[in-house]
Amino acid sequence: MPAKLSTADIRYHIANDLTLEQAKDLQNWLADHLAALERQAEEWLPPTANQVMATRRLGKSCLLLEGVKCGKENCRCASGKLHGPYWYEYWREGSRVRKRYHGKQIRS
Ligand SMILES: [Zn+2]
Repeated sequence: MPAKLSTADIRYHIANDLTLEQAKDLQNWLADHLAALERQAEEWLPPTANQVMATRRLGKSCLLLEGVKCGKENCRCASGKLHGPYWYEYWREGSRVRKRYHGKQIRS
């Protein structure tokens, strides 16, 4: 398998190895690809083990209204009466998923 190309490598090949026709073809393909990536970003659902009761989009964040289990054996939540529900905000930073607790209401 070839080593992973950097964007500088890719730009170098595009600048040096492509005909005008190939560059136009690549431009069209890239426009479609970008649209697909943007749709994917909009449809992204953050990972959670909690029960999700509602979702909201807020800019680059996704907010989930979650019913939460605290983990205590004798708690009411162990038999399905979950805590909350509480809002949690999730967003991506590079490959990491960040999370922020909001509570019963979405805070700004
Ligand atoms: Zn509990």
